[in-house]
Amino acid sequence: MGREYQLFIDGKFCGSKSQETFDTINPFSQEIVAHVARAGVDDVHNAIRAARNAFDNGPWPRMSPTERSAFIKTISDKINERTKSLVALEVEDSGSTIRKAKEDIFLSARCMNYYSKLAAQDFTENIEGLSKPGFAQNLLVHEPVGVVAAIIPWNFPLKMAVWKLGPALAAGNTIILKPSELTPCTAMELAAICSEAGIPNGVVNIIPGFGEDAGEELAKNPLIDKLAFTGSTAVGRKVMAAASASLKKCTLECGGKSANIVLDDADIDLAVDGAMYAIFYHAGQCCEAGSRLLLPEKIYDEFIEKLTRRTKNIRLGDPSDERTDMGPLISHKQQERVLRYIAKGKEEGAKIITGGNTPTAAELTRGFFVEPTIFVNVDNASAIAQEEIFGPVLSVIKYSNDDDAVRIANDSMYGLGGGVWSRDKERAINVTRRLRTGTVWINEWHLISEKAPFGGYKQSGVGREFGVEGLKEYTETKHVHIDEIGIREKKFWYDTVVPKR
Ligand code: NAD
Repeated sequence: MGREYQLFIDGKFCGSKSQETFDTINPFSQEIVAHVARAGVDDVHNAIRAARNAFDNGPWPRMSPTERSAFIKTISDKINERTKSLVALEVEDSGSTIRKAKEDIFLSARCMNYYSKLAAQDFTENIEGLSKPGFAQNLLVHEPVGVVAAIIPWNFPLKMAVWKLGPALAAGNTIILKPSELTPCTAMELAAICSEAGIPNGVVNIIPGFGEDAGEELAKNPLIDKLAFTGSTAVGRKVMAAASASLKKCTLECGGKSANIVLDDADIDLAVDGAMYAIFYHAGQCCEAGSRLLLPEKIYDEFIEKLTRRTKNIRLGDPSDERTDMGPLISHKQQERVLRYIAKGKEEGAKIITGGNTPTAAELTRGFFVEPTIFVNVDNASAIAQEEIFGPVLSVIKYSNDDDAVRIANDSMYGLGGGVWSRDKERAINVTRRLRTGTVWINEWHLISEKAPFGGYKQSGVGREFGVEGLKEYTETKHVHIDEIGIREKKFWYDTVVPKR
C-alpha cells in the first residue's frame, strides 16, 4: 500500500498547499513505496519564512556552540538507533543493494557525529603580522551565512541529505532541504528524527518536491543566503544562473567522468578488482565513478581478459538480498538513458566485450537493470568517454606512456575523481599531481571521508564539502579590527583628513 509522507515546515508535518502528492517507486519491483506531499512554490515560501524567522529571531544561531553540538549528536545517535528501518527503506526507495545501504546509513550517522564535533569548535583566528604588537588585534571570525537551501540527488539519498544538514547546522544556519523527487523517503525520516531531537522550529525544513518548481524557487529566491546543490552539471549551471540574481553564495557538487589510470607496474589482480569497484558500485550511479579506464599496451590483454571474466560473474538481483552485487538503476528513464549511450557507443565504433543489454532472467524483468557493460577501442573524444552516463558502463582507452595517460585523463570538462594503480608510490604520486581533479586515489577508489574536502575541478563543481574547508563554505568570514593604541596622535590617520583640534 505504501507509506505516506508530508512536508516538514517550521517544526510541523503538513500537506502541501495544493494538496498535490506524488508516488515513489521501488526500482526493483516497480511497487509504490510511498505517497508523498509535493511541495510547490507556495510551500517553498512557507519554508523560507520559517527558516528566515528561525535564523533572524530564533535561538539556533545564538545558542552556544556546545548546545548546538549536542543537538547534532542526538541526530547522529537517532540515525544509528534506526539503522535497520533506514537501511530497508533506502533499499526499497533507491534500489541500493542492502550491502551499500548498510554502509550509507552507518556513514550518515558518522557524518553527523563529525559535524557535532566541529560545531563545538571555535575557528576564530588571529591574523598575525597585520599590526605591530600593542597597536591592534585582528580577528578572523566565521559566522553563519544565514538561510541555506539544499538541493540533492537520488543516488545516496540519506547521505546526500546529511552532507548538507551537518555543516549547515554546525555553522549555525537554518536550512531548507529538497530531496530528489525519486527518493524522498529517508530524508523524511530524517525530518522525524530532527523533530524528535527537539531542533527548534524552523531550523530544519524538509520539503520533497520537483526541480521545475520547488527547486527553481529555492535557487532563485532572494531571501535565501546560500545554495548548496548536488546533482548534474546541466542542472548545476541552471541553479547557479538562477542564484546569480541575488548573488547567492553557491556550492555545487556536480557530475564527473573520472579517469582510472592503471600504470604498467600495477598489481594487475588488485587493479582489476579496483576498476570493477570503481565503475560498477551502485550500478555506476556515483558522481566519482571510474567510468574511463586507461590501460597501457604492456598489460592490456591480460587486464582485459581478467576484467571481462570477473565482470561476467557480477550477480544482478534483488537489492534486498545480501548476495546481490548489483541492483537496478533508479528509474525507467535512467535505464533508457544508459541504453541510449550503449547504442551510441556502438555507432561511434567502440566494441562491447561484455554486457550491453538488459538482463533476460525472469526475476529481473520488472527491475530497471542494465548489464555491467565494457566498451573497448574507445576514442576519448567520443560521447561515451566525454559524457556522464551514470550507469554500469565502462569505457576502456589505451594509452602509450604516463604523459599520454595524464593528457587523456585531463581531456574532459569534468574533474571530480580519479585513480592511479601502481606498485611505485613516487611514480603514482607524480602522475596524481598532474591530474586536474578534486580527489585522486592511489590503489583505491570511492573512499570519501567527512574529514577530507571533496569536490570538483572544472565543471564538476564549485567549492568543497567536508573537512573544516567544507564547513567554512557555510559561513561568512568577518574581519574584526580591534584598536589597542587609543591615542589620537599615534593613529596613522592623524594629520590626514581629520582637522587638528
Ligand atoms: P539532477 O541534476 O537531475 O537533480 C538533482 C536535484 O536537482 C534534484 O533534487 C532535482 O529535483 C533538482 N532539480 C532539477 N532541476 C532543477 C532546477 N531547474 N532547479 C532547481 N533544482 C532542480 O541530478 P540527479 O539525476 O538527481 O543525480 C545525478 C547527478 O548528480 C549526476 O550528474 C551525479 O554526478 C551528480 N552527483 C554529484 C555528486 C557530487 O558530490 N559531486 C554526488 C552525487 C551525485
